[in-house]
Amino acid sequence: MILGIECTAHTFGIGISNKRKILANIRDMYVPESGGIIPMDSAAHHKKVADKIYHEALEKAKIKESEIKAIALSNAPGLAPCLREGLEFAKSLASSLSVKIIPVNHCIAHLEISRSVGAKDPVLLYASGANTQIIAYASKKYRVFGETLDLGIGNFIDKVARHMGIGFPGGPKIEQHALKGKYIELPYSIKGMDVSFSGMQTKIQQLYDKGESIENLSFSLQETAFAMLVEAAERALAHTEKKELVLGGGVACNSRFQEMCRIMCAERIEKTKFFCPEKSLLVDNAAMIAFTGELMFSVDKSLLVDADKVDILPRERTDDVNVTWR
Ligand code: AMP
Ligand code: MG
Repeated sequence: MILGIECTAHTFGIGISNKRKILANIRDMYVPESGGIIPMDSAAHHKKVADKIYHEALEKAKIKESEIKAIALSNAPGLAPCLREGLEFAKSLASSLSVKIIPVNHCIAHLEISRSVGAKDPVLLYASGANTQIIAYASKKYRVFGETLDLGIGNFIDKVARHMGIGFPGGPKIEQHALKGKYIELPYSIKGMDVSFSGMQTKIQQLYDKGESIENLSFSLQETAFAMLVEAAERALAHTEKKELVLGGGVACNSRFQEMCRIMCAERIEKTKFFCPEKSLLVDNAAMIAFTGELMFSVDKSLLVDADKVDILPRERTDDVNVTWR
């Protein structure tokens, strides 16, 4: 029985996994009153909700504290104040339960959770607020084959949405507006397997200021930004010769994005399977941390460490981690 803690950014969550089954996945998200995330406020949010979320998770999983054998903690990468709050909570829990901690890289957890829906060796298109990467396993590491050169796709969408006055988080609202929009050309920026969004952001904001409709801009944003990512993901599939694509991250909740990925996989000559976990496992969540921790620990016992030896690694990259559990 592994208890997972997610704390890297806006979400505080507790997940419980046993024999690769998710028994609980409780979360609470910090939403800024206006503008973007303020790291200290998000950390204060985590501190405030932690106990409540923890007890809700135990109740949901119908387990006793004594059944928890280890704590998996998303100690990297993320906002330092948020990570620190998560670490504090994990340490005090580890001490009261007399268990050790498995540090888990948040981005890798987005990939590993795809095993819960049947993927074995996928390319992950990870599209979240702060992160946008194309990740796959190659010689002992999860390597980044492509990524955004400026802002994460979710942050890009949220910034544009804020400019157009439709609030935070922007993604779900942009998706609704897009249903009624028509295509207008926007900057399509992809270099190899890397993408960039700042040019498109500027262009959309200029067009909006000149009176272009939110519907048309939303539709065109989706068609352009998602096509860039799908193109990069296809290139990564061709390059790595992998036969599975997985979507992860909050932006992966978008139906049109999922559809474009599904079409690309179906049209490839090399048969490619497409996987998309359910929504509660796509957004930042602690079930994926518990699940990944359990997977890591089941293969490599040395990944379990004493609580006082665990630290936060706000800038740890996906390919910094030695993948010893495969
Ligand atoms: P994450 O950082 O993985 O929790 O994802 C949060 C991001 O996902 C935010 O930027 C949201 O705007 C975005 N998002 C959530 N739902 C959707 C959606 N349906 N379409 C596009 N983006 C979305
Ligand atoms: Mg994430």
